[in-house]
Amino acid sequence: MRFKVAVLGATGMVGQKFVQLLAEHPWFEITSLAASEKRVGKRYGEEVNWIVSSKIPDDVKDIEMVVMNPKYVDADIVFSALPSDVAREIEPMFAREGFVVASNASAYRMEDDVPLVIPEVNPDHLGLIEIQRDNRKWDGFIVTNPNCTAIILTISLKPLMDLGLRNVKVSTMQALSGAGYPGVPSLAITDNIIPFIKGEEEKVETEPLKILGRFDGKKIIPADIRISASCHRVPVIDGHMEAVWAEFRRNVNIEEVIDAFKSLKPLDLPSSPKEVIIVRSEIDRPQPRLDRDLGGGMSVVVGRLKKVDDYTIRYLVLGHNTVRGAAGASILNAELMIKEGYLD
Ligand code: NAP
Repeated sequence: MRFKVAVLGATGMVGQKFVQLLAEHPWFEITSLAASEKRVGKRYGEEVNWIVSSKIPDDVKDIEMVVMNPKYVDADIVFSALPSDVAREIEPMFAREGFVVASNASAYRMEDDVPLVIPEVNPDHLGLIEIQRDNRKWDGFIVTNPNCTAIILTISLKPLMDLGLRNVKVSTMQALSGAGYPGVPSLAITDNIIPFIKGEEEKVETEPLKILGRFDGKKIIPADIRISASCHRVPVIDGHMEAVWAEFRRNVNIEEVIDAFKSLKPLDLPSSPKEVIIVRSEIDRPQPRLDRDLGGGMSVVVGRLKKVDDYTIRYLVLGHNTVRGAAGASILNAELMIKEGYLD
């Protein structure tokens, strides 16, 4: 089984991660790459400022970059790593022409008929695809993955829902690669923490409610929890760390929470990690440099669990923002769509 895939925004931070992961993928073959207009007709290997820590895959070096227009793209699936304003215009053009669009951008995430999916959390939300095609009269469709910080948080919250989760407070320490390339100026972030990331707190407070919500066959009924977020940029290259205070409707103990984390099962898909949530018991873990690549960057790692009061457990959760939080997330969504027959 081989599917032809394209990457839109292939020269960016997330685009390069897509290229790296897709080049080794058993189901996918990169056939088209696109970025801004100035790259059209030029070879990927010559145009990209490659900042991923492996060689540019040989198979893609000579691919001639194309215009971001469905007529020039030869693919079954289009992975989008475009800035949100560009994605808003471009992604529907592809969906209308019959392409499956797996998007990282925020443009369509919160639209009622667009699935916002983490495969281990809400695979049934793919049911919105039929409704989307019906509403919009598109031959193809758009499926989105959440914001990087929201994915990492939501994976950790999913198993806590059955324990009676009610309120969540989260304080984030977010890596530089989350800001794209070239991102935050070195003179702004060296020896510093920046306590504001535009639009981030709103995404972290709303996206999990949709993902953890219930699909009733027609629409998503948002989860009945409240989230309050404070988001900060720190001088780490990859790996978002989040301190979470989870408040429950009843008295819970740490053992129950650990059992719940361990109960979240991986899927039988090529990009699934063996453990979705890894629980570390050491007093000083997780750490970005040591733990972000666990499970190929697709596991999230929790630790430092502490009972704050009868109803509240505090923990840290860490995830690789450009893998589980971006390119790896879209690829896992595409694998799920294939397994569920959406590309037949
Ligand atoms: P980035 O490094 O700035 O890359 C942006 C890409 O889009 C580049 O390939 C760029 O091409 C292309 N592009 C920019 N303007 C364009 C235009 N007008 N027309 C066509 N192509 C254009 O950004 P990024 O961090 O990879 O993020 C990409 C998307 O993923 C964003 O929507 C972001 O919010 C989302 N996301 C990022 C992360 C993360 O951890 N970084 C995580 C989750 C989601 P040129 O090189 O030719 O300019």
